[in-house]
Amino acid sequence: MAAASAARDPGAKTRITVLGATGSIGQSLADLLERNPERYEVVALVSNRNAAGLADMAKTLKAGSAILADETCYPELKDRLSGTGIRTGAGEAAVLEAVDQDTDIVVGAIVGAAGLKPTMAAIRPGRRIALANKECLVCAGDLFMEKIRATGAELLPVDSEHNAVFQVFETDKADMVEKVILTASGGPFRSLSKADMKRVTPQQALKHPNWDMGARITIDSATMMNKGFEVIEASHLFPVTHDQLGVLVHPQSTVHGLVQYKDGSLLAQLGSPDMRTPIAHCLAFPRRMNVPVKRLDLAELGTLTFEAPDLDRFPALHLALEAMRAGGMAPAALNAADEIAVEAFLTGRIGFMDIPAAIEAVLETMGARGLLGEAASAEDVLALDAEARQKAADWIEARQMAC
Ligand code: NDP
Repeated sequence: MAAASAARDPGAKTRITVLGATGSIGQSLADLLERNPERYEVVALVSNRNAAGLADMAKTLKAGSAILADETCYPELKDRLSGTGIRTGAGEAAVLEAVDQDTDIVVGAIVGAAGLKPTMAAIRPGRRIALANKECLVCAGDLFMEKIRATGAELLPVDSEHNAVFQVFETDKADMVEKVILTASGGPFRSLSKADMKRVTPQQALKHPNWDMGARITIDSATMMNKGFEVIEASHLFPVTHDQLGVLVHPQSTVHGLVQYKDGSLLAQLGSPDMRTPIAHCLAFPRRMNVPVKRLDLAELGTLTFEAPDLDRFPALHLALEAMRAGGMAPAALNAADEIAVEAFLTGRIGFMDIPAAIEAVLETMGARGLLGEAASAEDVLALDAEARQKAADWIEARQMAC
């Protein structure tokens, strides 16, 4: 995965651009940057609509520029940053200009398929892409990896499970790897029956037992779709076959990822469930940095438990694994339908178990019409994404009418 180094001359600060700065990942990253002002220079911060949050962060981190994707929120940003010397901008062109500026590391932490275009545009020779946004690999993994290879850019995974695997995957011995295992907490409904899951509320689903994350990924964790996305991501990040990828439910979220080798060794990365650890790993790699996360006390923890995932109670995971095997644009349709279904669940329009039902219906309809073949470009993916969203919205409307 690693090709070029992000470092310039040893004394220079590392320059960073953050896409999705105001989100959960962005805030964990900001905490690390604020603690290490002598090491990092913030070139640009990008978010969508949160002008107040972006302006505050830009001032704290002394960013060169602050950009909003949504132009309607620009007047507030401009007003809040007037007189600070921090450049401001808004709209798609401004976001693309921000990724065009000289920088060493781009952190891709926009949520959803909206992250695809700017993150793809950020891939440049000699740059490090620290990738949190799942959709780049889920929706357009082949295209994304092709661009990484063609440019010689360096790709490091922020997502805790992939970062864990990255830490224990001996790239020079890839032929000796038997299995890559991603752990899953199982979410808040790990032991609930399917019948009970039909009745859960958004408030219950938003209470993740271990991780504090953005709303969409929290719901995706509750359905276990998130783990399905992660398996698809892993299939692009690591040189293994689909059959070599596995999922293990581990409610304590202490072991994040494992690699099993042909000599019987099973290497794992452990840590507190705090995203600052994998983010710091991506910033400092190949070195490490001090991070004030809670240290693991294994004696205090006492017991770590593991169980196989239940694909019957968590059909979203099953759908994701099927979409991975189908390939082409099936994972992009999966993601688009999931984004719409999760939003409908959060706004009380459908039930929790309607999320996988909506996704399955979209995949079936689009698959039957032969629409899920290979994508030749990111534009193909975005067109398919739009169609899958519409299909999901239609299914949700029909479901509401039927209730
Ligand atoms: P959040 O919902 O907390 O934050 C999303 C960020 O994306 C916000 O800064 C938001 O801006 C910005 N954003 C949304 N749409 C756009 C757009 N069109 N253009 C520019 N910026 C946009 O998400 P998370 O931080 O939880 O997750 C970010 C990504 O990282 C997701 O893909 C997620 O799956 C992945 N991830 C997250 C983990 C976590 O622990 N949170 C762990 C592993 C992966 P604004 O605030 O202005 O709306």
